[in-house]
Amino acid sequence: MPRIYLDHAATTPVDEAVARAMVAVLESGYGNPSSVHAPGREARQRMSEAREKVAQLLGARPEEIVFTSGGTEADNLALVGVARACRERGDHIVTTQVEHHAVLETCRALEAEGFRTTYVPVDHQGRVAPEAVAEALTPRTVLVSVMLANNEVGTLQPVARIADLVRSRGVYLHTDAVQAVGQVPVGVEELGVDLLSLSAHKMYGPKGVGALYVRRGVPLSPLLHGGGQERGRRSGTENVPGIVGLGKAAQMAHSEQPERQRGLTALRERLIRGIAARAPEAILNGHPTQRLPSNVSISFPGVTGEALVVDLDLKGVAISAGAACAAGTVEPSHVLRAMGLSEQVAAGTVRLSLGRANTPEEVDQVLDILTEAVERLRQAS
Ligand SMILES: *Cc1c(COP(=O)(O)O)cnc(C)c1O
Repeated sequence: MPRIYLDHAATTPVDEAVARAMVAVLESGYGNPSSVHAPGREARQRMSEAREKVAQLLGARPEEIVFTSGGTEADNLALVGVARACRERGDHIVTTQVEHHAVLETCRALEAEGFRTTYVPVDHQGRVAPEAVAEALTPRTVLVSVMLANNEVGTLQPVARIADLVRSRGVYLHTDAVQAVGQVPVGVEELGVDLLSLSAHKMYGPKGVGALYVRRGVPLSPLLHGGGQERGRRSGTENVPGIVGLGKAAQMAHSEQPERQRGLTALRERLIRGIAARAPEAILNGHPTQRLPSNVSISFPGVTGEALVVDLDLKGVAISAGAACAAGTVEPSHVLRAMGLSEQVAAGTVRLSLGRANTPEEVDQVLDILTEAVERLRQAS
């Protein structure tokens, strides 16, 4: 039985060089980076090298990088940190209906503190109109948060254009770039963002570590209080092995980005063309070209995504469903719903997310397995 992993949007395998770098720290780099002595200095040195690498990936300054426990904490810190720090100036946040839960649920928590949020809708391809974001701004708006790439349908948002419209109004701009890093360029100057979230385990690094880029001068109130690590922006003794792993993963994401983009796009097009040829009733979700190189979100009317996931798992292929089945009813994701998919189409949605180790032969095998399963499940229902 083949073992084919097509769920890189959920998590990626850890790169061998990343693992080796981390093991070296675990075995001998036990120092506390805050300590004055030699082991402490060594840990501090390793951390500052990792910070340089993350900064280089983003075209940022090292002091603008705050290490966190992952993408979720980076998103929480960006939104809560800026909102609370700007409380005197305003109480309004603008985001979109298709953000990751780490952004949406943080907005809900801020609403409980008295902030207001506008959730800008998207079109049927999952794109937000920059003008709609600009129109949502009020004199009380302090922050806009728009993801760079959607984790479910892969749609890329026009973040640079949004930056043009938003930042001239004195409003800070955050982007969740967790899915985009390593696949498309993520320069903070080119994007024009003030804050950017990333996560190591979506880019061949370890779980439980990520970073928030915070442009110099952007006010940020910390979530964690304590020893004042990360220039007071994130207290707590640092996850040195994780940070070193993130640094290595960032270095590789930076140097391999054009090659990953080319390779993944070719595999994606092979997959999309193959499905269109064998299952013409299938519907590709998201934008045809403004999408992540790795993402194929596709709906097969007449079957459920959940049944397909289980069926493919039995055949050694790992994919994920676009809607969750709860108590006999299929609950479509907020992303698919915001894009206006009918309940029936949303229920038949699966996400295949490619990685750099996938091959054209694997794609062809998956095409056979997937289209056979769709046919069989449809006849059974
Ligand atoms: C995975 C993901 C996150 C959360 O990152 P974690 O490191 O798993 O906490 C946030 N945003 C997006 C778009 C993601 O895909």
